[in-house]
Amino acid sequence: MQQFFQHLQKVALIFIISVSALGREPLSPHIHGKAELHIIMDGSQLFVELNSPAMNLLGFEHAIHNSEDQAMVENTRVHLENPNALFIFSGAKCQLKERSVDFSKILKTNEHKHHETHGQDNDPHTHSHKDIEATYLYLCEKPNSLHSARVLLLDIFPNITSLHVQWIIHNQQGTNTLNHKHNDITFR
Ligand SMILES: [Zn+2]
Repeated sequence: MQQFFQHLQKVALIFIISVSALGREPLSPHIHGKAELHIIMDGSQLFVELNSPAMNLLGFEHAIHNSEDQAMVENTRVHLENPNALFIFSGAKCQLKERSVDFSKILKTNEHKHHETHGQDNDPHTHSHKDIEATYLYLCEKPNSLHSARVLLLDIFPNITSLHVQWIIHNQQGTNTLNHKHNDITFR
């Protein structure tokens, strides 16, 4: 698992550098209804990273208050931990190897806050809004056969109305914006 995160950090860095080189903004602001998806093929490894305002996935962004909130988090976790129902990568025979769903910003309570995070929280925007991040690692038998993907995420989480996708596949890169009518990506 440790290795997975180290590798992911490396890939994320490569991704940010690549995106910056194109003159695009790698980090988007927190806007309800919008979410970000990164898809990167590195050799036979496929990395997928989802970043969304918690509002889109849970319907709230406050810390958990009661058992209803807790149940909502568990329900969302079940969906996010089953990416085979969220993303379909055709042709490449990709098998999920690792996954990580990060609810820490929702689950974190005030008494656990450190001084470092207090500094960041001086920004009223980051103080009131929370994001959820999910990352996935697949191993693909036929990585060169990956030409398209279907994203079912918006069917599961209809509060996402616009999904901005940035991808790097086989030394090509591109961006797509998916919505409830258009959920296919062609990597070319
Ligand atoms: Zn928010």
